[in-house]
Amino acid sequence: MSNWILGLTGGIGSGKTTVANLFAAEDVTVVDADAIARELVAPGQPALQQITAHFGPGVLNATGELDRAALRRLIFADEQQKQWLNQLLHPLIRETLLQRCREASSAYVILMAPLLFENGLDRTVQRTLCIDVREQTQIARTCQRDGNSPELVQAIMASQLSRAERVQRSDDRIDNEGIDLDTLRERVRQLHITYLALSAQHPQ
Ligand code: ADP
Repeated sequence: MSNWILGLTGGIGSGKTTVANLFAAEDVTVVDADAIARELVAPGQPALQQITAHFGPGVLNATGELDRAALRRLIFADEQQKQWLNQLLHPLIRETLLQRCREASSAYVILMAPLLFENGLDRTVQRTLCIDVREQTQIARTCQRDGNSPELVQAIMASQLSRAERVQRSDDRIDNEGIDLDTLRERVRQLHITYLALSAQHPQ
């Protein structure tokens, strides 16, 4: 059981997943906020039933899964509907995340969330680390990874905190620009030593 949580964040394509995998290689449990958000609306989950009851069966695709694009279209221009959805999902996601963090057996736990600050999850963690690269690099790496258009990546970036504000609000930062995987691994190892010391001092 661990109750020292590091919030890991960064804009799309900054390298969060890459860094999370390096911490996982040091035996740190990583709890992925996006993965949990998807799990909670999987077929058979109560939240999906509530969403379908509220918005109608049009939010499901032919195989009974949530059609995210359809839901996004419904809430896009409707602040009230968006709020309804957030009020349903945010407490549920938060509760599930914290439960998973508490269940972890590593010395400390990483809560990985692209929208850590945007969704107020920073208030549930002991320390924050952001992965930082230039916007151009975010776009180039994301397009290469997903084959998406630069416009789509830019639209996602516009819905996220600005780079400057994210860095300013984080305790620690990894500059993931122009460094290879070995250098990144070294940086993660240094931080891991710091976090082990901090978590050991933290009252259980
Ligand atoms: P995020 O989870 O923040 O969206 P990823 O960890 O998936 O970002 O990284 C985005 C892309 O950039 C991936 O294809 C990853 O392999 C690559 N990448 C990450 N760090 C570096 C780096 N230091 N140099 C080059 N490419 C990198």
